[in-house]
Amino acid sequence: MTSSTSARAPFLVLLDVDSTLIEDEVIELIADYAGVTAEVTEVTERAMAGELDFEESLRDRVALLEGVSAADVASVVDRVVVTDGVPELVAGVHEAGGYIAAVSGGFHEILDELAERLGLDRWRANRFEVSDGKLTGRVSGPIIGREAKRETLLEWAEELGVDPTRTVAIGDGANDLGMMSAAGLSVAFDAKPVVREQAHVSLPDRDMRQVLHVLGLQG
Ligand SMILES: [Mg+2]
Repeated sequence: MTSSTSARAPFLVLLDVDSTLIEDEVIELIADYAGVTAEVTEVTERAMAGELDFEESLRDRVALLEGVSAADVASVVDRVVVTDGVPELVAGVHEAGGYIAAVSGGFHEILDELAERLGLDRWRANRFEVSDGKLTGRVSGPIIGREAKRETLLEWAEELGVDPTRTVAIGDGANDLGMMSAAGLSVAFDAKPVVREQAHVSLPDRDMRQVLHVLGLQG
């Protein structure tokens, strides 16, 4: 990415959100309000390890959240902790003429505010179905799972005029393997074993500045 002939060609860094861009699994924070944290955490863990189908497991977990108020969901954003080094990564990618975006198996209700604050170029996530100010326990629209993340990477690369070989996908869970397999460079970030095994690069420490070094954008 640093050769003189390609230094100005655009590139795209696409991040997973839960446990990658942020320290948390947002659905677990929301589960607190429904008193179902243990159940949701166990299913999330198994889905991220690749033991469960992501889409089905998400529907099952969201069903447990029925009745949580939309106001409580919105308040969760205040509890989210952004991963160390994310602002530096965003700034470094932009300085180098790249794009940085996020695609999430989590939820727009949380990601919208976060992504705007961080200055991401694009983001996409699932959406809760809400009725009378409460979650119905269903997901609104198609689920952003493993295949949707892969399609998102290719769709945004094309829209932004980025050659697919100049895309970077960063994630921690099995639902990130689709976008990671389609990316020019795949980065496992403090990831599950199944993800570490398949990524080009595995970063064990939770510091996103490491990605700048991998991309040759710092040092
Ligand atoms: Mg994740």
